[in-house]
Amino acid sequence: MKIHEYQAKAILSRYAISVPAGIACFSVEEAILAAEKLGGDKWVVKAQIYAGGRGKAGGVKLAKSIVEVRQFSEAMLFAPLVTHQTGPQGQIVRRLYIEQGIDISHEYYVALVVDRASQCVSLIASDAGGMDIEGVATSTPEKIHKTQINPLEGLNLQDAERVVRQINLPESCRSAAVSMLGALYQAFDENDISLLEINPLIVTPDNRLIALDAKMNFDDNALFRHPEIVALRDLDEDDPLEVEAARHGLSYIPLDGDIGCLVNGAGLAMATMDIIKLYGGNPANFLDVGGGATVEKVTEAFKLMLRNPDLQAILVNIFGGIMRCDVIADGVVSAVREVKLAVPLIVRLEGTNVELGKKILADSGLTIIAGSNMADAARKAVDAAARHRSEAATRGA
Ligand code: GDP
Ligand code: MN
Repeated sequence: MKIHEYQAKAILSRYAISVPAGIACFSVEEAILAAEKLGGDKWVVKAQIYAGGRGKAGGVKLAKSIVEVRQFSEAMLFAPLVTHQTGPQGQIVRRLYIEQGIDISHEYYVALVVDRASQCVSLIASDAGGMDIEGVATSTPEKIHKTQINPLEGLNLQDAERVVRQINLPESCRSAAVSMLGALYQAFDENDISLLEINPLIVTPDNRLIALDAKMNFDDNALFRHPEIVALRDLDEDDPLEVEAARHGLSYIPLDGDIGCLVNGAGLAMATMDIIKLYGGNPANFLDVGGGATVEKVTEAFKLMLRNPDLQAILVNIFGGIMRCDVIADGVVSAVREVKLAVPLIVRLEGTNVELGKKILADSGLTIIAGSNMADAARKAVDAAARHRSEAATRGA
């Protein structure tokens, strides 16, 4: 789960990490009042969306007057912001964060992330922070310093001191920076964060250390321990299809291919996507109907896939263990009837009650292409999708 920058900064403040004074706003009027309340002679108008890369996309603007606060707020609010992380359709900005503008003398990068390879939390730091950190990582990886943190010990003092030296923080900020790294690790640990990124962490001309941006992702499997974090969730920011899928107990992730996949079990769903790719096709989604799929759930799954205008075929791949193949077959038949399916449907069933399942499909009178195994089903799905696309093109011509 993700949260907004201003919410992440509120959490950081609780750990005595300095962040600029700021006020979250939902309208231009609120933004102007916020700037007046914050005072000073410059402000930063920041679009609050879950994606990063806002600065380069016009979603972070330094205003030198209240008039500019108004102009920038008007331009950003309720308009889509397209960053390299949002996809081409962008994300509508519904919240702004108005902050006191701060003078920067240098931008650093600091992040904590769960590193699956080492099974540790990794502290990543660089003195080349700011908006081009991805470029730094590819062209000058030696400027990125990684430290693995022993989960039993936490971040130890020697490591924190070494990192602070590695990124060349000015002498006068070093002890504050060591404390700050400790506080960041504590926040990460106590809140079950999976990614905590401060980019940039800045030093001001008067040598103060301030987290100018903050990104926090949380471990979904630990959210049950943090109702206060769950309460921060902004449903406007989540993919509406994923939100709807979650409501029906389905894990659904839209992808950019054209072959819909309906599978039970996350592992089999991944393998199904892989094998589609292997035979030259492209999956339109990841969809795991889980172990307890009902006719209603399968119908909802079909409806989700069919919202994709580019869909050319659907591959159902079920291994019946706890889930019985006859239940899935009933679900498929009733879903296909209800949604009046117009793309080819390929079904591969295996496992408990498979013969009964196949009989239900055969007796349904529906045009269903049977796959005898995964490879056969995937190959047939790729062929059927290509054929359906070219037929549609001929009809259109
Ligand atoms: P991101 O592009 O989505 O990561 O947004 P950031 O919050 O990191 O802002 C992008 C850039 O805007 C930062 O790297 C800074 O250079 C600049 N910026 C943000 N806040 C301030 C500020 O208070 N003063 C100044 N001078 N620049 C700022
Ligand atoms: Mn940033």
